[in-house]
Amino acid sequence: MTGGRTADVGGVTVSLDHYVNGRRIGSADTFEDRSPLDWSLKLGDVARGDATVARDAVTAAIGAADGWAALGPAGRATILRRLADLIDEHVEPLATVECLDMAMLHESLRARVIGRGARNFRAYADLAEHHEPRRWSSNGTDNEVRRMPAGPTVVITPWNAPFMLSTWKSAPALAAGNTVVLKPAEWSPLSCSYLCDLAEEAGIPPGVLNVVQGLGGEVGAALVADPRVRRISFTGSPETGQLIGVAAARNLVPFTAELGGKGPLLVFEDADLAAAATTAARMYDDAGQVCLAGTRLLVASGVAEEFYERFRAATDAHVLGDSRDPATTISPLIHPQHLARVEGFVERSRVAGDTVVFGGHRWKDDGLWYEPTLIRPRDNDAEIVQSEVFGPVLTLQEFADEDEAAALANSTKYGLTAMVFTRDASRASRLGDALRAGTIWVNTFLVRDLTAPFGGCNASGIGREGGDYALDFYSELKTVQVREDTTYG
Ligand code: NAD
Repeated sequence: MTGGRTADVGGVTVSLDHYVNGRRIGSADTFEDRSPLDWSLKLGDVARGDATVARDAVTAAIGAADGWAALGPAGRATILRRLADLIDEHVEPLATVECLDMAMLHESLRARVIGRGARNFRAYADLAEHHEPRRWSSNGTDNEVRRMPAGPTVVITPWNAPFMLSTWKSAPALAAGNTVVLKPAEWSPLSCSYLCDLAEEAGIPPGVLNVVQGLGGEVGAALVADPRVRRISFTGSPETGQLIGVAAARNLVPFTAELGGKGPLLVFEDADLAAAATTAARMYDDAGQVCLAGTRLLVASGVAEEFYERFRAATDAHVLGDSRDPATTISPLIHPQHLARVEGFVERSRVAGDTVVFGGHRWKDDGLWYEPTLIRPRDNDAEIVQSEVFGPVLTLQEFADEDEAAALANSTKYGLTAMVFTRDASRASRLGDALRAGTIWVNTFLVRDLTAPFGGCNASGIGREGGDYALDFYSELKTVQVREDTTYG
């Protein structure tokens, strides 16, 4: 079905169609996309892809693969850097679209998040272009490890930070020479649609980057089931990660899964309590819809009271409101279903006997905001401690010593991030060993070096992306061994 349907999203024109083989195509079916800022505002009826669209997109990716691979790392890098420049030039419209579609704060989108999308493309263009293959001699042979594009890659992303996460995964796949079919989440698909316009303007050839819209169980499931796909990169919930793992296993396709989190934030007696408390209050940013957040506050008993006072003051400084208003620091949640899910967690916690210290309610009857909430659980097995809420809900527990702190920190099924506040360098180093998480921040939070590995342990994920770890994942590695005394005649 030919496309051509667009929406006016805060004055920005965004296609509601798929983008396959360099063309906009529609679907007979659509799904509604509404704004969390005002649920009565329908942003558009977005094309609802099915198995046919999924098949066509993978076919397009296969058709474009040889040409894209033939450009080599330097040729691809030139185009990807052009795309990065275009993202930087379109920060305002992208921020407008993402703010209306997902409700992330406009100011942080404008100042940081959209620019991170450009950085993703630049960083991987540089890494792929300047990669030095490993070369060495052994057993009478000269050896070299080469990277070969893996092939058509499916990227599936969640609704929180859709632009940043989609570029975080598409950029290394493209830089490594793969062609991509990207499926953004159905609750916030529009910034990825806008990305296609920029990709086309940057000169990405037709079929190299395809975007299909639709529901996970429909077009998403069809994409990951396609045996022609050679890599799957997924970010989302552990439950969907399991389904994708099953589909990948059927076709023997390597996949990475960046999944949920329930990070501990540990505060020791010797910590800079002001910094720890301010950082803890930042866990309410983006209404807590952040996989990396330290949602379990674990505080040394001796400083628990002082920490709490400071944390409470920092939390009171938050401003709930419209994400377009620069004064706002807490946005609404993404969707009424998600608000009900967050409410359900808090209600079950209350009923089970946990103490809701503050918050625990919707902010207003007629919006999707939920108050910043703090809960003291009755014990460590409480659901509110063990399960990811993905909303503005933190727990506070005390510990007696370092061993207990580490044991509590490692006591959930997750292992994405951990934060430690201490002035003791040897303690920081010991916890760097003891904590089971993919990223451990000491006296800081959210600082990201794109060359570092990123991913989670246990239910927080499989595999690592970031830097060369991602480029290796999106490549087939091969070893070429040449006998040292070979003479070619
Ligand atoms: P989700 O698992 O419901 O959906 C994620 C994506 O998977 C969506 O695009 C969805 O359409 C698709 N999908 C759903 N079912 C599918 C299927 N059967 N086959 C193929 N695709 C399918 O997750 P969500 O609610 O969108 O996102 C929230 C989750 O993502 C949270 O658990 C959060 O912690 C996690 N997350 C993790 C990271 C990380 O880097 N580790 C980053 C952001 C979000």
